Order: sequence, then structure tokens, then C-alpha cells
Amino acid sequence: MSPRQVGCFGTWFRRKQVSAEPSKTHEISSPLGKSSATAVVSSISSELKCNYITPCDHSYADMGDWWSQSDVQPPAYDAPGFDSVIDSTLDELSPQLRKLSMEIHSHPELAFCEVFAHDVLTTFMGSHGFTVTKSYLGLQTAFKAEFTHGKGGRVLGINSEYDALKGIGHACGHNLIAWSGCGVALAVKAALETHDIPGKVVLLGTPAEESGGGKIILLERGAYDGMDLCVMCHPAPGPPQSANIGGSIAVQDITVEYAGRTAHAGAAPWEGRNALDAAFLAYSSVSVLRQQMRPDHRVHGVIESNGEMTPNVIPDYAKMHWLVRAPTSSDLTAFVERVKQCLQAAALATGCEIKLHFEHPYLELKQNEVLGREFADIVSKRYNMATTGLTSSASTDFGNVSYAMPALHPGFAIPTEPNGGNHTIGFTKAAASKEAHMQTLRVTKALAHTGLRALRDAEFFKQVKESFKL
Ligand SMILES: [Zn+2]
Ligand SMILES: [Zn+2]
Repeated sequence: MSPRQVGCFGTWFRRKQVSAEPSKTHEISSPLGKSSATAVVSSISSELKCNYITPCDHSYADMGDWWSQSDVQPPAYDAPGFDSVIDSTLDELSPQLRKLSMEIHSHPELAFCEVFAHDVLTTFMGSHGFTVTKSYLGLQTAFKAEFTHGKGGRVLGINSEYDALKGIGHACGHNLIAWSGCGVALAVKAALETHDIPGKVVLLGTPAEESGGGKIILLERGAYDGMDLCVMCHPAPGPPQSANIGGSIAVQDITVEYAGRTAHAGAAPWEGRNALDAAFLAYSSVSVLRQQMRPDHRVHGVIESNGEMTPNVIPDYAKMHWLVRAPTSSDLTAFVERVKQCLQAAALATGCEIKLHFEHPYLELKQNEVLGREFADIVSKRYNMATTGLTSSASTDFGNVSYAMPALHPGFAIPTEPNGGNHTIGFTKAAASKEAHMQTLRVTKALAHTGLRALRDAEFFKQVKESFKL
């Protein structure tokens, strides 16, 4: 038998072994079938971290079928005294929150330029009894809205996002995240007042999540100091009536510039140094690297500028923007090094100068397990929703917040068209739908219940803190 044949059989046996193992993804997703809305939670174990949601797995459900499961009445939730005020406050505010959502959706603004959203959100919070600081800590479109009841108690932090994507508007649904943050803050305020619970609510308006890392800047400038925990939520495609409390992966933003030398492309090309060629080689090298990288890593980039030259001039400038992702910060450090080598090799091959710029990385999201269990219990019992613990291969600057304090960032499904997940035009449409609003309202209520429990229940908060230390 030749070595080649051994190799083939080796592969076959290996395939057989792999396929004989039960699929983890199947185990997780099966309880989400139409007949059951049982919560499948807490699987924030490392074992589950190797499973990934992709938009094509779950991106579509017919709008007409979407809410059929809501016919099943959920069992009573076991904190009746605190239920009514949170749910009734948010039901009452719902039309105003919908208006905010649609205003922001129809005024999409890019990172650090979210002036319209900043103004409507701060006006809204100011008119509902919160003390507002506009343009917080030197960031023009950041804000703080705070409310204190009684003396002492714990501090609940909440984040709103409101930046959009170039060319495709609110394709990540941040219009929903914006008002959800307001909703959580107002519902918890109402509960603190009604039940005379001491505590503080701090809503931070955090610009530039898609790029720029607004939360990282705010963390560095002390905006999160004094918070005991922080929560927010994020829409995604997914099975009807589902939420997800899995983590997300780390990302490094890299800008690379190549500087060459112009020359007449016909008469004397040998006098030039072609920066566009450097970008082309860098793109090709990273594409080749992609074959050797692990399936849970990601790298993707664009050429932002080629110096706007004409074909008869050798381009002397090119700029590329790359995002490099890996499951953990240490994986990321190693993978960034490989990508850096590709970028540098392109400069070497073309004789161009290279300038690399690294942004502060977004760390992987570490969901607080105790907060996650509480949230999953609430959405299951009160809102008939199932919760999974699948890691997303997207990234968020809220990951850095989750390193600083106990934090929860549930994803939740809204109905969208086939292949219409986050960062597509389909999702822009989905983020404006009434169904998306209603689902955000449920998740907002659940986050408010979760946050309130951390303020009112010392024993529960002790567990939250202990879980953060682990
Ligand atoms: Zn987003
Ligand atoms: Zn996004």
C-alpha cells in the first residue's frame, strides 16, 4: 500500500470518527423546536464555545408564523411584587419608545457622528426624571443619564448604542438597542420608587460600537467607575422567540498604509514603487493564510484608498483596513502576528514603506453566568422564550466592559428575510418592523427584572460577584 493510500484511509477513518460523535450544535438547537420553549441555558462552558451561529443557520422565519408560539401561556414568575411595575411601565412607554426607534432608524449616523440620536435620547431621558450629562467625558455623542433613589444601595449600569453602518443604515439594529437602554433605565427607576428600594441607575450612551470602540474610551475615562454591574442587549437573526447568552470573540482593528513612488506607467515604470501592488499582495497573502487558520478565527479587510491615481501613473499610496478576530485575547495576539507578517511581506516585495496602526482591541465577551441564568429564567417563565449559550463570531466593545465588572449582553432574535442577518439591508428592514419592536420590548422587560434583582437582592448580587471572580 502506498503512503498516499494510507493517507486516504486515514482521512476516511477520521471522518467516520468525527461524524460518529453527536453534533453539539444539534443538541443545543433541538430544544428550540416549535413544540417547546424550554430554556436551554447556562451553557457558557468552554465546551459550548466551539459552536457558532451564522446568519444562514437561522436567519429566516416567515413573519406570519413568527409569533405562533406566543399562544402558550408561560407559568407564573416567582417575584410577583416586582413584576407589575416593570411590565406596566414598559407597556405604557412602548409607543414613545417605538417613536424614538423609528426616528433614529430614519437618521442613520456613523461612529462618533451620532448627533441626532444623542439629542433625541438625552431629551427623552431628561423629560423622564433622569439627570443628563450631554457629550460625556469629551465624547461629543456620548451621554450619561442617572437616577438615584434613597441612600446607599447598588449601581446598575446600562448601555445604549446608536451608530449605523456606512451605506446600509441601521443594519445592526442599534436603533432597538438605543431605546432598550432607555426602557431598562426607566422601568428600574419606576420599580425603585414604587418599592422604595435604594439604588442608582446609570444609563451610558455609548457611541461608535461598529468601529472606534466608544465603550473602551469611556472605560478609560472612568465612565463605568462605581457601577456594580452593567447590562445591554443586541438583536440578531435566530429561531423565533429565542435569546442567546453565549459570548462573542475578540477583534483587532488594523490600518495599514503603503507608501511607494509615482512614475510614468508606460515610459518609466521601473522608476516607481507600486503601493497598489503592495495592497494586492497583502490581500492575496492574507487569503492564503486563511487556509491555515482555525475555523473559529476570522480575518477580513478592504482597500480604503489607492491614492486615486489614473492607470498611467504608478500609484504611490494605498490604505487598507483589516479586522482580525479570534476566540480569546491570547489567541488574537498570536493570530494578529501572522496577519502582520503578511502585511509586512507585501511591503518588502514591492519596496514600499509600511505604516501599521493598531486600535485598542475589542476583548471577547464574558457573560456573567449568574446574570445569564436569571435572564434565561425570566424570559422562559414570563415571555415564553428559549435561551441558548452559543458563541457568536462577531465582536463587541462591550467585551471590554465584561472584563471590568459583572456584565450581561443577551442577543435576541428578530424576524428577518433569508440571509438577512446583521450588516445586511434585510436586517435594516427587520430593525424597523413592529415584530422587532415587540421582541425588543420583551427582552427589555427581562433585562430590567434582571437588573432590579441585582439591586434589591443582596444574596443574589453576592453570587453575581462571585461568578465574576471565577
Ligand atoms: Zn451591533
Ligand atoms: Zn454590527
